[in-house]
Amino acid sequence: MSETKPKIKKPRGVAALIEGKCIACGARCQSSCPVNCIEMTETGEPIIETTKCIGCHKCVKICPAAALEMYFTPEEQKILAELAEQAKATGAPVAEELDEEAQKLQQMLARYRGVWVVIEQYEGVTAKVSWELIGTGAELAATLGVPLSAVIIGHNVEHLCKEAFEHGADKAILLDAPVYQHYRTQSFADAICHLIDKHLPEVILMGATAQGRDLAGAVATVVKTGLTADCTGLGIDDKRNLMQTRPAFGGNIMATIMCDKYRPQMSTVRPHVMHMPELQPGRKGEIIRDSFAPLEKDILVKILEVINDGDGKDQVDVAAAEIIVSGGRGMMNKDNFALLTELADELGGVVGASRSAVDAGWIAQSRQVGQTGKTVRPKIYIACGISGAIQHMVGMQDSDTIIAINRDPEAPIFQIATYGVVGDLFQVVPAIISRVRELKSQSAH
Ligand SMILES: Cc1cc2nc3c(=O)[nH]c(=O)nc-3n(C[C@H](O)[C@H](O)[C@H](O)COP(=O)(O)OP(=O)(O)OC[C@H]3O[C@@H](n4cnc5c(N)ncnc54)[C@H](O)[C@@H]3O)c2cc1C
Ligand code: SF4
Ligand code: SF4
Repeated sequence: MSETKPKIKKPRGVAALIEGKCIACGARCQSSCPVNCIEMTETGEPIIETTKCIGCHKCVKICPAAALEMYFTPEEQKILAELAEQAKATGAPVAEELDEEAQKLQQMLARYRGVWVVIEQYEGVTAKVSWELIGTGAELAATLGVPLSAVIIGHNVEHLCKEAFEHGADKAILLDAPVYQHYRTQSFADAICHLIDKHLPEVILMGATAQGRDLAGAVATVVKTGLTADCTGLGIDDKRNLMQTRPAFGGNIMATIMCDKYRPQMSTVRPHVMHMPELQPGRKGEIIRDSFAPLEKDILVKILEVINDGDGKDQVDVAAAEIIVSGGRGMMNKDNFALLTELADELGGVVGASRSAVDAGWIAQSRQVGQTGKTVRPKIYIACGISGAIQHMVGMQDSDTIIAINRDPEAPIFQIATYGVVGDLFQVVPAIISRVRELKSQSAH
């Protein structure tokens, strides 16, 4: 008869403050503790009552300064070392002792699988950002080992399934009905909530467009999950959490946000932030048709008429341009922007601007590049008299080639520029224009 060895319990340790590291952030550790064993000193540092600490790690995880760690007695350290040896020998990881709450959470998280991209379309034509997200979604799905689904809602939009497959989707969930002819928050949000209830996806991506921002917020509120807007980077950690990176605190830092206790994990991403995937003509996938359609009489908003915003002639889409000549406060006044228009015309590009130039009333807000303007990814970005504030750079740093013209050699824009010209833009830009004209006339002969 073989005797089974008693299972060694993995010690949980107790929380301990690392001297000199607390930044007195406002007692986040205290508010995270489920057993109220943290008191705060007058200077805002925690005192941990170790006899009450249950080693749940919550304070350690929440501390923004990494000022807390788990302390293990020498005996506990010995047990941990033993368990690590066992794990090495058997190849199995040391199982975490989970409390009831953590077990329930794990079971809930395990029910959600799959990555979705909600496809935005208008009269059957897709917003490009949706295909960019299909590219990103495919990478996330591959890391998670799950299929990527395109969620297509509209009327007479079945042809978009083929496009979704050719861009990289494995499946297309299709809701095609007259009630979805035009986007309305209520009908589209109801449809997506219905699909979430039915299929339980773990990740949902939408474009950070007017429609995507509206829809994502409505859906996240109903299904009671987290939503990170305007992500600039997405990845997956070793626990299947979506790591959502975005500028925070006015763009001064990049924060990685996770929604580790709720599902689905929802993010919006602006156009041009992610790369467009390569088209794979003829690529096939599975169409899942769903007949869910709210009744027209139950939808409060009625579309009476669709009025297009101008005839498009005067509208310049900075975000879609391949060459952008941008001006900042260094342009000095509105009239000087004519110089940039001249250069942009020579190069076949468009004029963009920093927020300072927009705020000064020198150029329309639609031309603003940056955190509160457009995100651009042109082949060439020429920054004239722009210092390179972080809020500007997050909107253009992924341009293929960045040319910066600034008379201050210390201007931050030079840190990301491919080519930097230290000089007066009123001399440099005319010189570039005349050189471009010279080259053009040479090639014409
Ligand atoms: C929440 C928030 C959101 C924001 N969103 C945005 C955004 O979307 N986009 C954005 O751009 N900013 C944004 N900003 C503002 C941003 O912080 C900066 O204030 C802004 O980008 C500065 O614009 P600028 O580089 O044109 O001006 P400045 O910082 O004043 O720089 C002007 C530059 O011109 C150079 N210069 C002057 N004369 C000449 C000359 N003759 N020749 C060559 N160089 C010259 C100077 O050396 C200087 O470097 C935001 C700020 C906040 C707080
Ligand atoms: S580890 Fe958990 S129980 Fe212990 S102090 Fe931190 S939050 Fe409280
Ligand atoms: S969470 Fe960290 S930084 Fe904030 S008070 Fe507690 S120990 Fe200090």
